[in-house]
Amino acid sequence: MISRRDQLAAALARVEDRIAAACAHAGRPRSQVTLVVVTKQFPASDVVLLHELGIHDVGENRDQEAAEKFADLPGRGGLRLHFVGQVQSRKAGHVASYADVVHSADRLKVIAALDRGAAAADRRLSVLVQVALDEAPGRGGAALGDAGRLADATAQAESLDLRGVMAVAPLDGDPAAAFGRLRQVADGIRSAHPDAGWISAGMSADLEAAVVAGATHLRVGTAILGSRASHG
Ligand SMILES: *Cc1c(COP(=O)(O)O)cnc(C)c1O
Repeated sequence: MISRRDQLAAALARVEDRIAAACAHAGRPRSQVTLVVVTKQFPASDVVLLHELGIHDVGENRDQEAAEKFADLPGRGGLRLHFVGQVQSRKAGHVASYADVVHSADRLKVIAALDRGAAAADRRLSVLVQVALDEAPGRGGAALGDAGRLADATAQAESLDLRGVMAVAPLDGDPAAAFGRLRQVADGIRSAHPDAGWISAGMSADLEAAVVAGATHLRVGTAILGSRASHG
């Protein structure tokens, strides 16, 4: 039977090939793109294996699960923890106490709570403004027209570092067109905040379109860890 380590190594190699091909196609250096492996619903033992296989950036989407999983990893060994899920404002302070990057700031209330939480923990927190690329309610993200205001608020917050924008492609429709809209928002924000050049976009199904649209961070789960449904 194939070991979990070999399974993850093979899947990582396949995803690496896809990223390299997409970068070549887009004429972008591979070094401009960071792979964030989304480990939600998978155990801390997988995080340890991924780290041994050279991964430095991992993503989680639930406060309690993330906090427990990473509390088990001694010193965290140089792993950066990206919080990619919707942030409830009453949990934001806690998330700010352990996450390195929050991808999903989409309301002023959440930004204020993240700032307070980071200050209370005496640390700085990198923050991306999440933009909604479709009309479907409930999937998180600020309206396109509000993104600039939220970016300004993040940049002004005492303990937050505005890094850029994040989005999830719409469930239906063309991811390339959606990521193109995100790119426009990102360019607008970067003209006001030159250090905010990150674009977090692209998941297992659409990472190629994201690389073409200029993504700097890909958030990939299923293509590396397998299906969450079959994992139980
Ligand atoms: C789960 C999740 C991902 C990873 O999605 P896959 O399709 O499994 O690659 C990326 N981004 C966010 C916000 C997620 O919740």
